[in-house]
Amino acid sequence: MKKNAYEVALEVLSNVAEYMNLEDHVYEIFKEPMSQLTVKFPVKMDDGTIRIFTGFRFQHNAALGPTRGGTRFHLDETPEDVKALSLWMTLKNALNEIPNGGAKGGVVVDSLTLSQGELERVCRGYIRKIGPTIGAWKDFPGADIGTSAQTQSWMLDEWETMNMHHEAGGISGKVMALGGSKGRAEATSRGLLFATRELVHAKGLEMPDLTAVIQGFGKVGWHLAKLYEEDGVKVLSVSDVSIAIFKSTGLDIFDVHAYVERTGSLRGYPNAQEITNEEMLEIECDILAPCAVQNVLTKENADQIKAKFLIEGANGPTTPEAEEIFIRKGIFIAPDIWANSGGTQVAHFERVQNLNNDSWSEEEVNSKLEKIIHKVFGEIYALHTKSNISMRQACWVKAIGTVVEAMKARGWV
Ligand code: NDP
Repeated sequence: MKKNAYEVALEVLSNVAEYMNLEDHVYEIFKEPMSQLTVKFPVKMDDGTIRIFTGFRFQHNAALGPTRGGTRFHLDETPEDVKALSLWMTLKNALNEIPNGGAKGGVVVDSLTLSQGELERVCRGYIRKIGPTIGAWKDFPGADIGTSAQTQSWMLDEWETMNMHHEAGGISGKVMALGGSKGRAEATSRGLLFATRELVHAKGLEMPDLTAVIQGFGKVGWHLAKLYEEDGVKVLSVSDVSIAIFKSTGLDIFDVHAYVERTGSLRGYPNAQEITNEEMLEIECDILAPCAVQNVLTKENADQIKAKFLIEGANGPTTPEAEEIFIRKGIFIAPDIWANSGGTQVAHFERVQNLNNDSWSEEEVNSKLEKIIHKVFGEIYALHTKSNISMRQACWVKAIGTVVEAMKARGWV
């Protein structure tokens, strides 16, 4: 049976804990979020019926500061996934020098099946339940799968109404008019582009003329496809939840995007071949960028993967067994907690701007992002090569070390 994201996260954690000689009680702290809130809330649907939704907000570890992490609206959302995602957020913040702990939340819902009115009421209902535990100095939810600048704006409005004061830093990923940051919409993908360049350059290659396959054509996948194309990379294949499309000479990404905007899906796109999500992962290409969900690269398909570089846009797309096979095959991996940290980094920039009543230019945001991605790459690549550990282990060792230092200073351990 396929492992869930939490089982995968614990496997990596236990492996790194052993390498670092972590004391048992320290390991225990990392294993579970320190606070786990599960809520139920009623929402009136357009047809007059009442539906009860389940939501989560898990705060994993606040040693480095107030917690942060996205809000996922997905039908398959489970407490196990939220636990894993909140642990990854603690590590992502620590690794990328963001002075925050990790958290994650979500609602079990397929937002595409809701009307705009219903979606707004779900956002407001969710915030009314988790409201007391969030805020700019406690925990600030951002966006993730199924949420957007609009959902974040409704959430902020509900939360500010509940608290009877304005506090833009309480929710990140908002529209610009409510204190969103320039560059946020593309931030995760721009970070992935910078991460790809680091790996490609480390192997003495250049971006133009490389080929890429991107799983997922949502917020992260679409912007990454566009940025790759602008960098001269030929995007051969993209996918949504139901199908993938492939063109050996490279897709016209803008045309594909216009088609999806018009029809709502990739199905029926006329200028490429339709293939399955499984087939797309096995295409011969230079860069494979999973930008959809967790656990898509497993021991079942790892041997068939032909890419040279694996750029983890999604959180947790690779199981430890698949990673072992990739390392044996010489596939160079940009691990999720570093590679896809651009969104988190710019959400952090958004909060800094909010707290200072400031607004930075897009160039300033992008250049700060590029600097930190480059700096962290230097550190993890050095650790990876000097200590002969994987890129992922290098990320986790550095991140866990930082959190342990903060916990020690606080007297927790
Ligand atoms: P979106 O909801 O915007 O897009 C998700 C994409 O994945 C869509 O194309 C969707 O297809 C597809 N998809 C959904 N479920 C599956 C599945 N079971 N198998 C294959 N494809 C699927 O999400 P984002 O782009 O925001 O996020 C994508 C990934 O990136 C997630 O893992 C997220 O955690 C991670 N991430 C996102 C960040 C962000 O800033 N948004 C930051 C860091 C990481 P369809 O449209 O048909 O539903």
